[in-house]
Amino acid sequence: MAVVNAKDMLLRATEGKYAVGAFNVTNIIQMAAVVEAAAEKNAPLIIQTSVTPTRLIGPGVLAAVYRELAEQAPIPIVLHLDHCTDLDLCKRCADTRYTNIMIDASKQIFEENVRQTKEVVDYCRGIGGITVEGELGTVTGVEDQVAVAEDEAALCDPDKAVQFVERTGVDILAPAIGTAHGIYRTPNPKLDFDRLEKISGLLNGDGPRIPLVIHGGTGLKPEVVKKLVALGGSKFNVSTDLKHALIDATFEYISAHREEYNPGKIDKAAQESVKRRIFYWIDLLGCEAKA
Ligand SMILES: [Zn+2]
Repeated sequence: MAVVNAKDMLLRATEGKYAVGAFNVTNIIQMAAVVEAAAEKNAPLIIQTSVTPTRLIGPGVLAAVYRELAEQAPIPIVLHLDHCTDLDLCKRCADTRYTNIMIDASKQIFEENVRQTKEVVDYCRGIGGITVEGELGTVTGVEDQVAVAEDEAALCDPDKAVQFVERTGVDILAPAIGTAHGIYRTPNPKLDFDRLEKISGLLNGDGPRIPLVIHGGTGLKPEVVKKLVALGGSKFNVSTDLKHALIDATFEYISAHREEYNPGKIDKAAQESVKRRIFYWIDLLGCEAKA
């Protein structure tokens, strides 16, 4: 019942001026925690796996667990493949019924990005029920954030965004506006709000059509997150924050119970910690009770 793709969920969010949390998980314990937290808040949910855990656990296993959890949950849930540069893995995940695939060819020249993105869009259309996210401009790690934020060429060109969407048929767009992955090294990272507003106006000015994704949510101040959502960001990616919650809670539990050998209790402590962060993000993004 609650297995859905990202498009309709995010069109509703764009219309309602809130964002859906897209939370990266690296294992099944985390996946269950994220689902439990979103269900408690009655919030729509996007679960994401990046390429490394997807390969490690296997797309078929992740998709099967997702399906089992989502079918029993009272909320709509998407399973999304995050930042995949490998066309074959994009297709394999689509075959196992991930419901949203991100082909990230943003480091390629524009024409090649269009070609690869369109190839994944066509493949997913052939299967049906699977939507696709593309990226234009470069969302980097924090080590390159300042260079990218100051280099217009690395950010998403608004006119090219329109062309990109028209030529690829992509469902959802991640425009690079200066956000980055990891923990920001400055309390005020340079973000191009005007650029986001312009892209949003061009693509969704006449009504929601192409939902926009904000990458690199971890470490942004609450008022910055709210501003990005108000300007049209309807999918908000959070990864590093959840990794910290998981690893810190695991470390703290083991440190405090060094003589105990009970993995279930370690998992429980990690889950509780992840859930607290999900509650924080759902509250901030305004998606509570929007399921
Ligand atoms: Zn990202």
